[in-house]
Amino acid sequence: MSNCPTISVVVPVFNEEENLPELIRRTTVALEGTGESWEMVLVDDGSRDGSAGLIRAAHGADPRVKLVALSRNFGHQPAITAGVRHARGAAVILMDADLQDPPEVIPAMVGKWRGERFDVVMARRRSRADARGARGFGFRLFYPLLRRLADLPEAPDAGIFGLMDRKVVAEFNRLPERNRFIPGLRVWLGFKQGEVEYDRADRAAGEPKQTLGRLIKYAIDGMLSFSTRPLRVATWMGFLCAVVGFGTAIFFVFRRLFFNDPAFTGFTTLLVMMMFIGGIQLIAVGILGEYLGRVYEEVKQRPLYVVGETVGVEGDRGGEEG
Ligand code: UDP
Ligand code: MG
Repeated sequence: MSNCPTISVVVPVFNEEENLPELIRRTTVALEGTGESWEMVLVDDGSRDGSAGLIRAAHGADPRVKLVALSRNFGHQPAITAGVRHARGAAVILMDADLQDPPEVIPAMVGKWRGERFDVVMARRRSRADARGARGFGFRLFYPLLRRLADLPEAPDAGIFGLMDRKVVAEFNRLPERNRFIPGLRVWLGFKQGEVEYDRADRAAGEPKQTLGRLIKYAIDGMLSFSTRPLRVATWMGFLCAVVGFGTAIFFVFRRLFFNDPAFTGFTTLLVMMMFIGGIQLIAVGILGEYLGRVYEEVKQRPLYVVGETVGVEGDRGGEEG
């Protein structure tokens, strides 16, 4: 790999024109501070504002800033995947465009990678300023739940912000799955994993670009793609209902036989039981459906994203490595 920069920073961008100038400025300062050669791969995920134009202009001013423009909006994780596949660096850093991941943490991550030879450096949030309202509740619920469910050595309490060595990136690029929960995949890949801590800022400008619906899908992806335990939960719920039902039946038969009690004929009880069992059945079918839908997505083998145009980067290296 000749002429490859040492560090690639990959940033997914969706309608971030308000944040881009500041992002590029602060990231450039942070990268210059490392003393390494670098590139910044900004992935325009079908923005409808001036984001792509801003990135093109930034490329004119500094050719180390590069653009991968997707043909439409594909979402956060596909955009990151596209960026990683176009990155050339010996280390690849993932970061959001809204300055929630402060670029000033980059030198510390590079230090861990260079100095202590970590292959993965995750940026663990010491605190987060964005955990308010429904989203905040979701964030607080999600990570403990993921830790209980996931078949991972250690479920990450980290977002995408982090650094991967080229050998980890090569393996990452070979992962074929469509439903990608990147923090989980990064832990799953293994290698020597380290951490730096940081305070997660609030989004610098604009509204969150990930809809709550997408965040929920992402959370479900995270749990389902690393565990089949929810399926077992359905089985256990079934067992529980069966045992309770059987116990109740025996109870009433005994009462009838030994106490000559007329059978219990509560309409309300019946209705409640039916609703309860119906609910449990639908939940079980829903869980099955979630898995089945994901299996269908994988089987279709459709690409994760389509690249419309690139500025300053060579082709996709998704299939080339490994
Ligand atoms: N983003 C993207 N495509 C989308 C939605 C978001 O590339 O469809 C980018 C967005 O520009 C930002 C990052 O993904 O750089 C994270 O998005 P956001 O800040 O809205 O998510 P949150 O911080 O709430 O997880
Ligand atoms: Mg954000």
